[in-house]
Amino acid sequence: MHLRRRILVTGGAGFVGAHLCRRLLADGHDVLCADNFFTGTKDAIAHLLPDPHFELIRHDVTFPLYVEVDEIYNLACPASPIHYQHDPVQTTKTAVHGAINMLGLAKRIRARILQASTSEVYGDPEVHPQPESYRGNVNPIGPRACYDEGKRCAETLFFDYHRQYAVDIRVARIFNTYGPGMHPNDGRVVSNFIMQALRGDPITLYGDGSQTRSFCFVDDLVEALVRFMAADGATGPMNLGNPTEFTIRELAELVIEMTGSRSELVTRPLPADDPTQRQPDISLARDTLGWQPTVALRDGLARTIPYFQDMAQDAAAQGLAK
Ligand code: NAD
Ligand code: UDP
Repeated sequence: MHLRRRILVTGGAGFVGAHLCRRLLADGHDVLCADNFFTGTKDAIAHLLPDPHFELIRHDVTFPLYVEVDEIYNLACPASPIHYQHDPVQTTKTAVHGAINMLGLAKRIRARILQASTSEVYGDPEVHPQPESYRGNVNPIGPRACYDEGKRCAETLFFDYHRQYAVDIRVARIFNTYGPGMHPNDGRVVSNFIMQALRGDPITLYGDGSQTRSFCFVDDLVEALVRFMAADGATGPMNLGNPTEFTIRELAELVIEMTGSRSELVTRPLPADDPTQRQPDISLARDTLGWQPTVALRDGLARTIPYFQDMAQDAAAQGLAK
């Protein structure tokens, strides 16, 4: 028998959050989306508003929230370096106070709670690929620290609420995720490269482009998050991502090929503390959830590029109408 659950998604108007809200509604649940619209937009979830099982509240997770739900996905936090470095103090507050408030809520109402943690807890890793047992190499005082250390402290809080108050936790360490719905100007590499290629602008390689990332299509990630939430007794931390690794230069070349763009590659200075390599060891997720990504980068880009093409066309049409 299907049980309709009441599920809170913080950061539900963001890139991953909007996909997750859609999935949970499709699975027959009641979804409460809480977002302060710092990087998320009402447009991302506007199509869900007519659904009587969807509810939206403007709320900042650095303040307490009093609602009654069965499960909480805590996604609220800017994820792109330009966004999280825009107001670093607020980023740390969102990660840490947000975790305290949502854990307090979970404790009071006995809800299961999943934290969207990140591969950034590994910093610039000296172990490759990264298993969950690796403790990381994070600069605690650099420009990325507000996010990396904020997320590390949130993990600490999750495990302390679990040990001290028996809160039922799930800590997911999410690796680079992309797909339709990304913000075109959020500065992340996939959105930057596709937008630059579509406009015929130079593709900006930071450094020499030899640094690596492993890109997961958003549908694969959402499937893993839902399975992880449902897995009894699995606290994590658990790496969730696609283990196929690419250099940033390879990504740029693939985007140019797939968009048929004439854009050239240009180099720009490498941002401080930019990790040189990143690849998840997903053995734990494979064994515990029976999950592994199904969408290769080329296929995921083929499903992402049209979204950005539509967006570029809309922007051009609005420019003409002015
Ligand atoms: P996003 O920036 O698109 O979405 C984040 C959402 O949180 C936005 O809607 C934003 O308005 C909201 N938010 C920010 N501060 C808030 C606050 N104080 N109160 C309430 N809402 C707030 O980012 P995303 O890519 O969808 O990431 C979602 C989560 O997944 C984040 O926690 C992020 O750290 C984590 N994550 C994402 C990736 C990725 O590659 N996308 C990788 C690792 C971890
Ligand atoms: N990057 C790049 N050009 C861009 C944007 C990003 O070369 O226009 C690089 C960036 O330096 C990093 C990688 O792409 O090495 C991934 O960057 P992103 O901001 O997407 O995510 P993160 O660094 O958090 O993994």
